[in-house]
Amino acid sequence: MSRIVLASANQAKLQEMRALLADKQVELLSQDEFGVDAADETGLSFVENAIIKARHACRETGLAAIADDSGLEVDALDGAPGIYSARYADCEGPGADEENNLKLLSELEQAPEGERSARFQCAIVLMRHVADPMPLVCQGAWEGRILFSPRGENGFGYDPLFFVPGENCTSAELPPARKNALSHRAQAIGKLLSCWNYPH
Ligand code: IMP
Repeated sequence: MSRIVLASANQAKLQEMRALLADKQVELLSQDEFGVDAADETGLSFVENAIIKARHACRETGLAAIADDSGLEVDALDGAPGIYSARYADCEGPGADEENNLKLLSELEQAPEGERSARFQCAIVLMRHVADPMPLVCQGAWEGRILFSPRGENGFGYDPLFFVPGENCTSAELPPARKNALSHRAQAIGKLLSCWNYPH
């Protein structure tokens, strides 16, 4: 059984990843259990930030690490909010999601329906050790468009504004299990699992 640290303090992510790795010979531990603080996300891409987080967790624990980084990319805004999705409206705490959504709506005020294409992006990294010269990097993208007003109560972040054409609803209107089958994160994790025999 190999031990791998998840470079996140998010309990929901830990549970989701543990479930997905249930049939692998892996014990997945949170970096919190080792007293590891969050790394500074100084990269300019999702991939760089996921690598920074994974390397930090490897360095601090001496174990292999998995990290992910994700966000929303809006075409009419040249890819914004992108890697800054969590702090788009410069607001922290419980009201941050709502402020981010209000800012997004205001930035897209002039964009008609046909010019509101967007996608959620996710990069996930498996790093075998701190000096790993070839971390495994997998990516997932979930296509949609940004509505003019929020709909739905599920999920988090930009879910109430993210319309998924194939499902004819927002990602906040999807049952959680359906979102977890379709999402950018699910796609990236699926690819990671399909490469799992990569030596780690
Ligand atoms: P993180 O990768 O969990 O740090 O997510 C970064 C930010 O991207 C979140 O705070 C959200 O604003 C946004 N985001 C990432 N994934 C999703 C999603 O599945 N739904 C809605 N927003 C998301």
